[in-house]
Amino acid sequence: MGEGQIIQRFEGKTAIITGAGSGIGRATAIKLAQQGANVALFDLKDDRTMETENEINRMRKGAARAFDVDTSNTERVEKAVLETVELFGGIDIVFANAGINGVLSPIEDLKIEDWEKTINVNLNGTFLTIKYTIPHLKKNGGSVIITSSINGNRTFSSFGMAAYSTSKAGQVAFAKMAALELAKYKIRVNVICPGAIATNIDQSTQKTDQLKDIVIPMEFPEGRQPLANAPGHPDHVADLVTFLASNEAAHITGTEMFIDGAESLLC
Ligand code: NAD
Repeated sequence: MGEGQIIQRFEGKTAIITGAGSGIGRATAIKLAQQGANVALFDLKDDRTMETENEINRMRKGAARAFDVDTSNTERVEKAVLETVELFGGIDIVFANAGINGVLSPIEDLKIEDWEKTINVNLNGTFLTIKYTIPHLKKNGGSVIITSSINGNRTFSSFGMAAYSTSKAGQVAFAKMAALELAKYKIRVNVICPGAIATNIDQSTQKTDQLKDIVIPMEFPEGRQPLANAPGHPDHVADLVTFLASNEAAHITGTEMFIDGAESLLC
């Protein structure tokens, strides 16, 4: 779609996107900004996050600001939310998306600190992001979207990912609790469950030597998706997130949506 044809459906809105420096978060931040939103990019402030900020600001000056936030750090999340409100005047959309695969290991060998790291980033990070944005979302209502996964919800065959899958299942329960609790404030909460998407997530994956001991051969090759026979693109997910963030999804809350080209139906 040419730039002139893009609908400005988020004009005057502000979105917080966690994990905005790469993959799904980056694609969504760009798409929301293209459609008029101001975007607060919460990520570990590395070169990639700065590059996302620059790319958006080249498109529309001042539309993006990168914040150096570890989403598992309570003080930093709270502070960055306040800084976002000060800069852009409020919050309408929250995409709690930052996540890591973490250490992949048999459960009996998994160190407690590795378990905690994955839970802290993926699940506690989701909780903190939403907790501190609620007071601001309450003012005019809004849309919260959480990135979970097919892992822990429809598939349980990613060997060594007990911590990851637990965090991803927890996010779905949390989304439903939040959807009901926040409905009276016109805050919608939905959760998306992608299958394999081509991003940089492998960089946050550490496989232990013991992993081979628990792997059961799978009938279908890894990553096979019947709809495309390839992993999804971050833009596929960004399109779903921008739909859920928009008024076109005004009656959708408390719902998990699988976006996986039917991958999880095979497993
Ligand atoms: P990615 O690695 O490309 O991007 C993740 C981003 O999160 C990175 O920019 C990283 O710096 C950031 N991040 C990591 N830890 C953080 C922390 N503590 N605080 C702030 N930012 C942090 O990966 P992605 O695939 O785009 O992942 C986004 C989300 O999608 C994750 O929650 C992941 O679990 C989920 N997901 C991905 C896939 C896939 O196949 N790629 C499938 C299902 C779900």
